[in-house]
Amino acid sequence: MKCPICDQPVKWQGNPYRPFCSERCKLIDFGRWANEEYRVPGPESPATEIETDEERPVNAPPSLEEE
Ligand SMILES: [Zn+2]
Repeated sequence: MKCPICDQPVKWQGNPYRPFCSERCKLIDFGRWANEEYRVPGPESPATEIETDEERPVNAPPSLEEE
C-alpha cells in the first residue's frame, strides 16, 4: 500500500493515519477536498432560473380562429 499523497510505502498496522503515511499527508488530502468544494459550487445553476412572476413577452403569433 502506498500513500496517495506522497507515494511512499505506508505502514498499515498501528497506523492511525492510514491510508496515508502520516498526519501531514492526511491533512494535505483533507485540504484538497476542501479546496475542491470551494471550486465546485454544486449542482445549482442560478443562471437558468426563470422568474415565473414576470410577464411573458408576446413573441408568439395570435391564435388563429379560422373556421
Ligand atoms: Zn504520505
